[in-house]
Amino acid sequence: MNQFHIIVIGGGGTGAAVLHDLTQRGFKATLLERGELTSGTTGRHHGLLHSGGRYAVKDQESAIECIQENLILRKIAPESMELNEGLFVAITEEDESYAEAFLAGCEACGISTHVLTPKQALDLEPNLNPHLRLAVQVPDGTIDAWRLPLHFFATAKHRGADIRTYSEVIGFLKNAGIVGGVRVLDHKTNQEYDLKADIVVNASGAWAEKVTAMAEAEVPVRPSPGVMVAVQGRYHNMVLNRLHASGDGDIIVPQRNLSIIGTTSWIVEDPDRPGLPEDHIQLMFKNGAEMVPAIKDAPFRAAWSAVRPLIGSKGADEGRELSRTFKCFDHKERDNVEGLVTICGGKATTLRGMAETTVNVVCQKLGLDIPCRTKDEVLLPYRAYYN
Ligand SMILES: Cc1cc2nc3c(=O)[nH]c(=O)nc-3n(C[C@H](O)[C@H](O)[C@H](O)COP(=O)(O)OP(=O)(O)OC[C@H]3O[C@@H](n4cnc5c(N)ncnc54)[C@H](O)[C@@H]3O)c2cc1C
Repeated sequence: MNQFHIIVIGGGGTGAAVLHDLTQRGFKATLLERGELTSGTTGRHHGLLHSGGRYAVKDQESAIECIQENLILRKIAPESMELNEGLFVAITEEDESYAEAFLAGCEACGISTHVLTPKQALDLEPNLNPHLRLAVQVPDGTIDAWRLPLHFFATAKHRGADIRTYSEVIGFLKNAGIVGGVRVLDHKTNQEYDLKADIVVNASGAWAEKVTAMAEAEVPVRPSPGVMVAVQGRYHNMVLNRLHASGDGDIIVPQRNLSIIGTTSWIVEDPDRPGLPEDHIQLMFKNGAEMVPAIKDAPFRAAWSAVRPLIGSKGADEGRELSRTFKCFDHKERDNVEGLVTICGGKATTLRGMAETTVNVVCQKLGLDIPCRTKDEVLLPYRAYYN
């Protein structure tokens, strides 16, 4: 173990993967999460292990990140996923005409594709809209949103990471422009205390702007909620996407015996108040039923929203125009605040790659040359978190 102590703010998938990478490279690391682990966006997404197909035409940087990390996660965290593949389904003539750009985009990004006739697609998934025109098979899959990060938490914990839940960062210890730790409010005891660190990593997702503001630094994050609806019953085994430019209600992910339909996209100022518009819920049923007619009358189980931590400046592009890629900000370069690094954006699928980039920055700031090895180490089972 080296002598440096790193604090990670945020116990979602990104914080979990950063904590794992830090401990694997020999750092002493403490993670602070204001609520329960994965209580932010991580515990609320669809659970789509992205092949990158969804971004292959308009957001190729994100598509490449997704396929690279998808293939790695299959090896290092197999217990948390169902390798059920995905179909992009063309229903209308317009969808069909999108196929050419889609296939070219997938090829450019290294995403394997297999074009299916309507009969072949219906043989695989009999509940698809019988009027479909074609489908393209891609290596999408289903992930368990809770178990995937728990693999990372478990492995980090067994290497000595200190994981503190209900521990909210309420300020920074800052001297002459250098961050040297954080002020923590322990919600279990209602006590405040200081915790020192050589570097603080801000992995607080959609809350990243609020957190950096406490250190008088800035990060261009746009909190972008989306609504998801769960219906009772599993109408197909493969993940379904509509074959068109990303839109509303065009994903259906089978999760155990539920089907999760998503999603929408808008921008809010406060990630703690995303709202849950009723018309978005209705839209999920309507658009979902265009791919799988039985969704129209499927028994409602739940509806909720979650907030994406998208990178973008206020007043610039909004919602679906924003890239789904990730970025690591060294606040020394950005705001002349030393000792603070923010990792933001990305997908649940790209958590490991986000962590690799972040810990590379941490190492570089500390003058260390320690290679990342997280691509190759199979993570401990998620159950190991508890024992
Ligand atoms: C509608 C929707 C659907 C999605 N579907 C998918 C999908 O199917 N597949 C996929 O790969 N990705 C999906 N995503 C994206 C994915 O969910 C996110 O990119 C990912 O979960 C973000 O993880 P994170 O760890 O960065 O953030 P979070 O999970 O939000 O973690 C940040 C944590 O920081 C904590 N925190 C905040 N402030 C403080 C503080 N002051 N002190 C301590 N802790 C603090 C929060 O409580 C939170 O737990 C979806 C996103 C949305 C919105």
